[in-house]
Amino acid sequence: MLSGKDYIRYSRQIMLDDVGEEGQEKLSSATALIIGLGGLGCPAAQYLAAAGIGKLILVDDDKVEQTNLHRQILYSESQVGMPKVDAAKESLNRLNASIEIDVRKQRATNVTLPEMVKDASIILDCSDNLETRLDINQAAFSAKKLLIIGAAIRLEAQVISFDFSKDTAGCYACLMQHTDEEAFDCSTAGVLGPVLGIAASMQALSTIKAITGSGFITNLWQCFDGRQQKWLSIAHKGTPNCPICAGHQNDS
Ligand SMILES: [Zn+2]
Repeated sequence: MLSGKDYIRYSRQIMLDDVGEEGQEKLSSATALIIGLGGLGCPAAQYLAAAGIGKLILVDDDKVEQTNLHRQILYSESQVGMPKVDAAKESLNRLNASIEIDVRKQRATNVTLPEMVKDASIILDCSDNLETRLDINQAAFSAKKLLIIGAAIRLEAQVISFDFSKDTAGCYACLMQHTDEEAFDCSTAGVLGPVLGIAASMQALSTIKAITGSGFITNLWQCFDGRQQKWLSIAHKGTPNCPICAGHQNDS
C-alpha cells in the first residue's frame, strides 16, 4: 500500500500507464541485486533507488579510489579509501531513506553467487570482467532469474537481458562464442563516464520495465557506438552447443 508521501514522491512515474499505482507497488516490493559498484553499478543503483525499488543488494569487494571518481558517480572525494558498498549505501540512503539496502563486501564467484542470487527478483550484472560475467550468467540461469547485463569500454557500450524463468535458449555464454571479446578492463583501455551511464541507464530502464510488467525486452544484444552515437541491435537466441542453455526451447 502506497503512502500519501509515496504518491507525491513518485507521482511523475505513477502517472505513466507503464507504471501506475500497481507498478509502483511492485517496485516497492522488488529486490534488485546489483553486482559491481563501478561505472555501471553506480548510476544503475542511483536510478533504482530513486525509482523506489524496495530493496537493493549491493555487491563489491573494492574500495573507492581517486581514479574511480570520473565515472563512478555515487562517490565523492571524501569517500576515497572507503569500501564501495559502504560509500554507495551512504549516498543512496541520502537519496532515498525509505528503501532497504543490504551490502555484501565480497567478490561474486561461483561459490558466493548461488546464495547472493536466491533472494533477488532481478539481477544486474555491472561487473567488469568476463570470468565474473560468466559466473553470474551460470548462477542466474541455474536459479531461473531475470538477468540484465551491461558492459562498456572506451566509447562503446553493450546491454542484453535474459529471462531464465522461461524455458528459452540464449545466454551470455553463447553470446560470447560469437564475439571476439577482449577483456573489459578499464584500467588498461580507458572509458568515458557517460558511455557507462548509457549502458547503466538501459539496465535500470529494463529493470523497471521487467518489475512493472511493462515489456521486458530479452535476447536482444544492443551495442552503442559513442563515436558515431549509433545503436546496433542483434537478436540472440542461443547456439545448439552452448554448455549452459542448449536444449531449451528457442521460441522466445
Ligand atoms: Zn547459452
